Amino acid sequence: MTKVKVGINGYGTIGKRAAFAIQHMDDMEVVGVTKTRPSYEARLAMKEGLPLYAASKENVADFEKEDIKVAGTFEDLLPKCDIIVDTTPGGVGEKYKPVYEKAGVRAIFQGGESHGVAGISFNAMANYHEAWGAQFVRVVSCNTTGLVRTLYPIDRVFGIDKCFAALVRRGADPGDKKGFALNAIEPSLKLPTHHGTDVQTIMPWLNIRTMAVVTPTTMMHVHCVTCELKKKPTENEVLSVWDSVPRIRFVSGKHGIKSSAQVMELARDLGRPRGDFMEIIIWQDGVKVEGHTLYYYQAIHQESDIVPEIVDCIRSMMKLEEDPMRSIRKTDRAMGIGK
Ligand code: NAD
Repeated sequence: MTKVKVGINGYGTIGKRAAFAIQHMDDMEVVGVTKTRPSYEARLAMKEGLPLYAASKENVADFEKEDIKVAGTFEDLLPKCDIIVDTTPGGVGEKYKPVYEKAGVRAIFQGGESHGVAGISFNAMANYHEAWGAQFVRVVSCNTTGLVRTLYPIDRVFGIDKCFAALVRRGADPGDKKGFALNAIEPSLKLPTHHGTDVQTIMPWLNIRTMAVVTPTTMMHVHCVTCELKKKPTENEVLSVWDSVPRIRFVSGKHGIKSSAQVMELARDLGRPRGDFMEIIIWQDGVKVEGHTLYYYQAIHQESDIVPEIVDCIRSMMKLEEDPMRSIRKTDRAMGIGK
């Protein structure tokens, strides 16, 4: 089978994880990754056997100074690719769009870009076919992915009249030197926050509002969600809906998992690569139904939940697999998700 040739533009937090996942698939391969600087991640890419390209000509000398031999620059990588996964920082991807357009190459943007950059926002379960054969698609952010993963199946089975989610966000990624105030909680003052609107790029019919605070942790986002449902389910019925769909995993306070730190410890105990958790985590004993109202908590591993979505998005855009569930299962099997 000829493999789809993928280039990763911006080998950082998301880029290196996307590259790792793609290298585990049998229908696609990474033909090169770009870096702006000769950081440890540049050496990591080489260790992983990934051809390394300087983001631009100006960066080449920096790599040479560090004795890192690059295979060329981004311009040399572009013609070798069927599709680019653009994992540059938020707002930078938009600047690359005309370059991808000119080269006639497909590109996947990330949640740091606006919906308009691609016009299609993606979640494998909810709208796989919208990306079918498209030139540009945006895989939504980690928070939006988390909300869509759990709300979409609930809406299909019980119908959601109204949803409110309060997002408790991590201040920075563990490897992020930007960081956040060590001892502060910062509310997002522009209300309602953009997260609800972002969910509507995939589920436009959903009546959802969100608020958010940023907290001094690097370990996951936690969402507190309430939904007014059209039908009146039992808690067990809600749990069995989530149990029947992929990329959702239950944990339980009764079994000692009471915080995001313990969820991350579980990921490490399970031997997950990088200690990542690509599933959305729901506290089974934190699910409550009162009449038509559903309450639940979920935790999102910000650095990794979108990674399997990127893989499925490639399959849809490159027309590799028509059935979303087959693509999802194939990705999850290869990544050890659900074990
Ligand atoms: P990052 O800063 O960790 O990585 C970005 C990479 O792009 C770095 O290697 C950087 O050197 C490189 N880069 C910077 N400018 C570049 C340029 N002009 N050309 C080529 N490469 C360049 O960022 P990230 O956290 O991986 O985020 C990437 C995208 O994914 C953003 O849109 C972000 O919003 C989104 N996202 C991030 C997270 C997260 O939690 N980290 C979660 C979901 C989505």
